[in-house]
Amino acid sequence: MKHLVSSLLFVALLGGGHATAQEKVLNLYNARHYQTDEALYASFTKATGIRINRIDGKEDEMFERIRREGAASPADVFLTVDAARLQLADEAGLFAPVKSKVLESRIPAEFRDTLGNHWFGFSFRARVVAYHKGKVKPEDVDSFMKLADPKLKGKLCVRSGGHVYNRTLMAAMIHHHGDEKAEAWARGIVGNLAREPKGGDTDQIRAVAAGECDIGITNHYYYARLMASTKPEDQEVVRRVALVFPDQKTVGTHLNISGGGMLKHAPNKEAAVKFLEYLASDEAQAYFANGNNEWPVVPGAKFDNPHLAAMGKFKVDRLSAATLARDTPKAQRMIDRAGWK
Ligand code: FE
Repeated sequence: MKHLVSSLLFVALLGGGHATAQEKVLNLYNARHYQTDEALYASFTKATGIRINRIDGKEDEMFERIRREGAASPADVFLTVDAARLQLADEAGLFAPVKSKVLESRIPAEFRDTLGNHWFGFSFRARVVAYHKGKVKPEDVDSFMKLADPKLKGKLCVRSGGHVYNRTLMAAMIHHHGDEKAEAWARGIVGNLAREPKGGDTDQIRAVAAGECDIGITNHYYYARLMASTKPEDQEVVRRVALVFPDQKTVGTHLNISGGGMLKHAPNKEAAVKFLEYLASDEAQAYFANGNNEWPVVPGAKFDNPHLAAMGKFKVDRLSAATLARDTPKAQRMIDRAGWK
């Protein structure tokens, strides 16, 4: 009996803390800035026994770090937001191709890099219009084009034009309307600003509620987060501000994605592919929806989120994220020329 106890103790010591030769790990460089993702990573470890060493950082810092570390980088997977950033990482040669039947069959083509299989989107988000219920008629702001109409002069709040969410939106405007109209649109946006671009998307929603502007541009999940908040001041924001999903009668609402890829110098390639495949599983897809109010890319993935349900079904712009991403350098030049700081 004494012998049994001591060997159990020995096993327990071996299993704790230090990595053993057999222990599988995944080194994740993570630029998704959402705390609710913790549960997602924990269930991957539970399902596979692969421990995740996670390094969180800002998008550009993570990208620079991987680039600087080069062949010595311990990073296996890089997760970030927006196809423009995934494309930048791809053009810098950071990603390795992943041939996976699971990923190809589960993720629709418009949400991944079909040319090289270098990156995959796992959730999508809608870029929407937030408006003050008392001051704005939704039909006046139901397309992105209308936001540049001079009759909205001095009414619009939006974050920096250089932010990827706006850069990718600009790329979509170029695609749908052509260079000339798209650039005129960017000038119109700048002409309608109520204040210099500042803050993140949530700040634009709050500014509309506070009366600093009548209209804001935001990703939908920032509004969903306010819907979910129990703080009285957040509930007041939701009471005053509503969303329009723009371009429903035409191309559908512009989307951006969150996604990632396996790195070229990944030391744990098998674990990396498993992790990417896990992110496309029904379980992980539900986490994106239930935890961070994003929509799963996998068609039919089940989730239970009252805030997303309240937003209802809407027509999505099916432009491929990869196509948009390739146009983002041109989009940024237009944004700069328009003075959208
Ligand atoms: Fe975001």
